[in-house]
Amino acid sequence: MFCKNCGREIDEHAYVCPYCGALAATPVPAESPAPTTRVNGLGIAGFVVSLVSLGLGYFFVIASIVGLVLSIVGMCLRKKYTSCNGLAVAGLVLGIISTLIWAIVWIAVGTTLALIL
Ligand SMILES: [Zn+2]
Repeated sequence: MFCKNCGREIDEHAYVCPYCGALAATPVPAESPAPTTRVNGLGIAGFVVSLVSLGLGYFFVIASIVGLVLSIVGMCLRKKYTSCNGLAVAGLVLGIISTLIWAIVWIAVGTTLALIL
């Protein structure tokens, strides 16, 4: 290749031109691998299902449990993901709350029914 400063032919791998001392080649920055975003889909699903189950738990108690399970799985696998891991934790908390609330409601309903009947 040729020196950009003086135009003389220099070694292909030369870092500095031996004739004029100008920088011949700009050092190539070490290739950094493109950061891959791996979204924790299970965490998102767990969070959404838990959130929905908070409102619909009376009709779909199973939704609370599904949300809880999805969030737990999402949390266990969180090291594999780089994004949305917080949602798995939030989903777990919501899932526990939702399951507890609706379990209490159903126990209360069951107890009341048992007393009436
Ligand atoms: Zn030169």
